[in-house]
Amino acid sequence: MIDLHSHTWFSDGQLSPAQLISRAAGLGLTHLAITDHDSVAAHLTTAPGIVPEGLQLVTGVEISTLWENREIHIVGLIIDTSAPDLTSLLEHQQQKRRTRALNIGRQLERAGICGLASYLNTLPCEAVGRNHVADFLISAGHASSKQQAFAKHLGKRGRYHEPAHWCSIGEAVQAIRAAGGVAVIAHPDRYKLNKIKLKRLFEEFRDANGEAIEVSYSNLHPEKLLILASLCDSLGLWASVGSDFHSADTTWMDLGRIRRLPAQCAERALWYHPRWIQQYGAMTTQTTSVIDA
Ligand code: AMP
Ligand code: MN
Ligand code: MN
Ligand code: MN
Repeated sequence: MIDLHSHTWFSDGQLSPAQLISRAAGLGLTHLAITDHDSVAAHLTTAPGIVPEGLQLVTGVEISTLWENREIHIVGLIIDTSAPDLTSLLEHQQQKRRTRALNIGRQLERAGICGLASYLNTLPCEAVGRNHVADFLISAGHASSKQQAFAKHLGKRGRYHEPAHWCSIGEAVQAIRAAGGVAVIAHPDRYKLNKIKLKRLFEEFRDANGEAIEVSYSNLHPEKLLILASLCDSLGLWASVGSDFHSADTTWMDLGRIRRLPAQCAERALWYHPRWIQQYGAMTTQTTSVIDA
């Protein structure tokens, strides 16, 4: 099994890299990409020795970008995690995250909700995000769930929404390519774009040297999976798969719990990309199957 999208506590995941790797190995994954939001700290701090035999760790990152005033997530896979352009882009993004968290904290204080900054200081994360703020709001009794924290407080229509000034798709793709990686549009149906806009997003991404889209991921409706598979095929993009695992609590989003790539794009799977083969070798059929969720 292959899972090319997951998070550790260096962004908004709950597990340490060692815990995540051990869970992946326990579930029988052959390849796991750690793709933290705007951070490669998990890769820089993980000693190769802790990855058990039979599991290949794939380097990765998930960069927040802005496209037509929407937040689009670009995953970079098979990256050199110390490439200078990428390092500098991620430092900027992390700074923007800190500033945004500070601004949300100020808004909360004006509403009489204090303590966000000190809560955030207790976390191991390098890239602070709204998920952490949502946890804080829940623990302080101001939201009953993550969903509610986003809907009422942190999302675009939320009371304490703070706009983020992320880099462009072009900048993210450029940094990923300069780091030797493959750029992938993460979870395309979560941006609520109609089919025409979605196609335009894919075309502009491809024009900016982006190469792949996530076709199969957690909680994706089977009909949407087929739409993405045919867009992937018709636009000549590569197909990625990833659970977007954050925590063991969300069992419907577990590592490797992703539908198989549909026939239309099965041959465009990312593990047939020359860059993958160069880095990890050619795959045998046995290791490419992804379980049906
Ligand atoms: P940020 O990185 O600060 O922009 O926050 C985005 C992250 O928040 C996503 O990667 C998800 O993990 C989480 N998230 C976004 N929207 C929701 C939601 N409606 N409910 C729960 N988590 C969400
Ligand atoms: Mn997240
Ligand atoms: Mn994402
Ligand atoms: Mn993610």
